[in-house]
Amino acid sequence: MRTVYVNGSWVSEDQAVISVFDRGFLMADAVYEVTTVIDGKLVDFAGHIARLDRSLGELDMPSPATPEELLDLHREIVAKNGITDGRVYLQVTRGNPGDRDFLFPDPKVTRPTLVLFTQITGRPEDSADAKRGLKILTIPDVRWGRRDIKTTQLLYPSMGKMMAKKAGCDDAWFIEDGLVTEGTSNNAWIVKGGKLITRGLSNDILHGITRAAVMRYAAEAQMEVEERSFTLDEAQAADEAFVTSASAFVMPVVEIDGARLGDGKPGRVAARLREIYLDESRKSGV
Ligand code: PMP
Repeated sequence: MRTVYVNGSWVSEDQAVISVFDRGFLMADAVYEVTTVIDGKLVDFAGHIARLDRSLGELDMPSPATPEELLDLHREIVAKNGITDGRVYLQVTRGNPGDRDFLFPDPKVTRPTLVLFTQITGRPEDSADAKRGLKILTIPDVRWGRRDIKTTQLLYPSMGKMMAKKAGCDDAWFIEDGLVTEGTSNNAWIVKGGKLITRGLSNDILHGITRAAVMRYAAEAQMEVEERSFTLDEAQAADEAFVTSASAFVMPVVEIDGARLGDGKPGRVAARLREIYLDESRKSGV
């Protein structure tokens, strides 16, 4: 049984309690972060906490703790649960005002709810998905217009993953105005003529922490990166494709809406970037 953190207390997961009036439960009035743990170290912690601060700021939600306190909590929960390869999930909600009301409660009276728990994953090198590559289904992007804020409104992404599964695919990419926005829980990339292409930052996509890291590593490795939107046709005609996220790292894509990319096997560029990402993450973990 895991030990989880709820509002200042460490409790067994079967003892953890949140109010039925919590706005995270009633209104998805909540933001979250997922930080990967590799070899017992937190990957890109500073980036995740900076994005958490930004998400909170955009929603006028008070921060429940300082970055230093959050680092301590992350380290403590990793230690308490003996995590070597896994993740720390953190969620902040606008708290429990004691009743259901659309208006935001006074932040001086209603304190935010803070929850952390861990998940165990395998060693990144053992990922069967990374060896096989993902099959992607595209679906219309009908999410709200502030996808840059990492809220817990994950119903449509969840439906997208179900649609993909029903179609015999591994995940879905969203399409808006004929252009790929991003994956259900990752940023989308294509490779053409050795050049990496991924959509530019705006309110249309989540500003992926892994995306930013991969952009840095690609530049250091003298790879050319173009930040621009791309169409489904372009993606299907690409040499390679992949997705990035804290959970999937760099994950190759081998098929989009039934069209095989290249020889239908994970591409060399994606494999190289995955290797670099894992190496660098092991070096820089905290
Ligand atoms: N886009 C969406 C919609 C996501 O849910 C995620 C995963 N948090 C990402 C992109 C990738 O972000 P990150 O690299 O920070 O995990």
